[in-house]
Amino acid sequence: MIEAPYPEFDELLTMIGEAGRRCSDIEASEGAAGNISVYLGWQVDPRRHFPLVETISLPQPVPELAGGVFLVTGSGRRLREIILDPAANLGCVVVGENGQSGRLYTSPRRLFQHLTSEFNSHLAVHYRLAMTTHTNFQTVIHAQPPYLTYLSHIPAYQDTLYLNRHLLRWQPELIVQLPEGIGHIPFRLPGSPALMQATVEALQKHRIVIWGKHGVMARSDVSIKRASDRIEYAETAARYEYMNLANHELGEGLSPEEIRQVAQAFGVKQDIF
Ligand SMILES: [Zn+2]
Repeated sequence: MIEAPYPEFDELLTMIGEAGRRCSDIEASEGAAGNISVYLGWQVDPRRHFPLVETISLPQPVPELAGGVFLVTGSGRRLREIILDPAANLGCVVVGENGQSGRLYTSPRRLFQHLTSEFNSHLAVHYRLAMTTHTNFQTVIHAQPPYLTYLSHIPAYQDTLYLNRHLLRWQPELIVQLPEGIGHIPFRLPGSPALMQATVEALQKHRIVIWGKHGVMARSDVSIKRASDRIEYAETAARYEYMNLANHELGEGLSPEEIRQVAQAFGVKQDIF
């Protein structure tokens, strides 16, 4: 939830660019992998940056979000290049009164045909969280960080409790940043209704969820870069875990008692350790 005065539109476009660049810096968006969407529950006139307009049908009806705004990456665009020209890489959707269609605003420099094919999952997550938490702001990022994704190929790490007890032990701030832990969804076909449904459920509880054998989806209702930070924290944890596996598991990690001390000192409620 964001209080007024709301961030300037330009500021939001720049933040999406910076989050995209960070995902790329940590090697979580090779080629055109990954996508970003931001929900704004307040009035915005996008026409200065996005003067072209067309009507699109939404992947699902979202009647309660009529008038709401989504900034969404275009299909095939590279996260690292958004910052060079955000308007050319993003579309701005304003949900119509009926909640079933929207107006898609784009730039004359637009570099894509359609919005990301994962917009169905993004929209479903935004919709559920707006309905359950009444937030007026949400960022959702899909990226493909290699250490997290690699671990999801190892059967033991497909168990959420095992995953979190092993990953969150490598830095004191991990339990503070990810107190609900990292969710895990078994492999589902990219862009499918099954992946969308599982993601909506998992992101109700977790701030970041692994899409098994594919990548992650993270959210933040505080800021755009907070969502990319979550990917970075989780990926760093996975990298430590990978290093430890490669090093005959010589590292001991923080003990459950040490992590409980951190959680207590920072007022973090957690049920992983
Ligand atoms: Zn992907």
